[in-house]
Amino acid sequence: MSKNLLLILDLDETLIHASSTKLDTEPDFFYEQYFVYKRPFLDTFFKEISAHFLIGIWSSADDIYVQEIIQKITPENINFEIVWGKNRCSLKRDVDLDQYIFEKRLKKLETKGFKLEQVLIVDDTPEKVKVNYGNAIYINPFRGEKEDKELLDLYRYLLQLKSSLNVRTIEKRYWKQSI
Ligand SMILES: [Mg+2]
Repeated sequence: MSKNLLLILDLDETLIHASSTKLDTEPDFFYEQYFVYKRPFLDTFFKEISAHFLIGIWSSADDIYVQEIIQKITPENINFEIVWGKNRCSLKRDVDLDQYIFEKRLKKLETKGFKLEQVLIVDDTPEKVKVNYGNAIYINPFRGEKEDKELLDLYRYLLQLKSSLNVRTIEKRYWKQSI
C-alpha cells in the first residue's frame, strides 16, 4: 500500500503534556524538571497511523527537547520523515494577539519533495499553522487528562482522508462531526 500523504504532528499538548508540577496521576517519564504525560492511546495511534501515512514531527519547542522527547515516546519500527523543532519555525509578530509566534510554514517541506496538497498538520495552537490553515486539523489541547480520547477520534478521521489527492480542498474545521 502506498502512502499518499504526509502527516505532521505537533508535540506539546498534542501528543504529550510536560508539566513542571506533578498532576494527581503518575507521569510516564521525567524529562529534566518536567513530569511528562503521554496522551492516551499514543502508542496505538503511532502504530496504526504509520500504516497509512508518512509521518513527521514539528514542534516549536527547543530542538534538543524535541529530539529527546521523541526518542522516549516513539514505539519501535516507527520512522519519521522529519523531526523539526524551533529552528525550523519562523518568528512572526501577530498583530491581533500582540505577541510573537513561532510559525510552522509548510512550504519548507517542498525542499524535501512534498507538495502542499499532500501534507496535513495537526496542532492544538491554530496561530502556529495559520499560514497553512488549509492543511491544518486542530486538536483539543491535552493537559494530562486520563480520560482523553482525542487520538482515537483523530485516527478515525484521518482514515477518511488517507486517499485524498488534495487535502486543502477538504473542509476540516468541523472534523469531529464527521466521525
Ligand atoms: Mg502544541
